[in-house]
Amino acid sequence: MSQGRIIIISGPSGVGKGTVLRQVMAHNPLLQFSVSATTRPIRPGEIDGVHYHFVDKSRFEEMLKNNELLEHAVYADNYYGTPEKAVDDALIKGISVVLEIDVQGALQIMERRPDAISIFIAPPSLTELRRRLKGRGDTAEQIMQERLRVAPHECEIAQKYQYTVVNNDLQQAVAEVEAILTAEACRSQYRKLQYKEEN
Ligand code: 5GP
Repeated sequence: MSQGRIIIISGPSGVGKGTVLRQVMAHNPLLQFSVSATTRPIRPGEIDGVHYHFVDKSRFEEMLKNNELLEHAVYADNYYGTPEKAVDDALIKGISVVLEIDVQGALQIMERRPDAISIFIAPPSLTELRRRLKGRGDTAEQIMQERLRVAPHECEIAQKYQYTVVNNDLQQAVAEVEAILTAEACRSQYRKLQYKEEN
């Protein structure tokens, strides 16, 4: 059995990363989401321990101090981070772990885990991104403005990712992410062929 891989997925807030990922993951039982820790308030419909581990600032700082996080970032005034142990426990079992994280965290993982697969999900345009973010309706105006403000900078960093998928048509974006994962699984270094002589 081969080790699982870390799959980094980033993209501006509102681009539709979650929707693309849910479809990709529904077709692939060997993929698991990493559950991040965050200090941001819980949104309607979110479940603690499923969407995030919702923690206060002092608990987050304790995790940092104890080196429990594989990466972390401050995004729109809140802390976000990836608990390392859960990731490594899955990788050892041959399960690949999807990290839906911001660009600051992604750059840290690319450095620390060079075999990670990195995919940036980009919007077809900033106008379309604004329309999608407004349509989501779960984000206060001020927070939305902050997210739109950082989006152009996030898209510039797309060049550092191995792959960029433009989420114009959902099915096309899902197909492209699946194609990337299929190609990565076929890389010779991850294919352990064990042939025995046949008599
Ligand atoms: P949201 O608050 O909308 O759920 O997420 C805001 C941003 O934080 C998104 O870009 C999301 O990908 C990112 N994010 C979520 N979890 C983590 C994490 O563990 N680490 C980092 N660096 N970013 C994260």
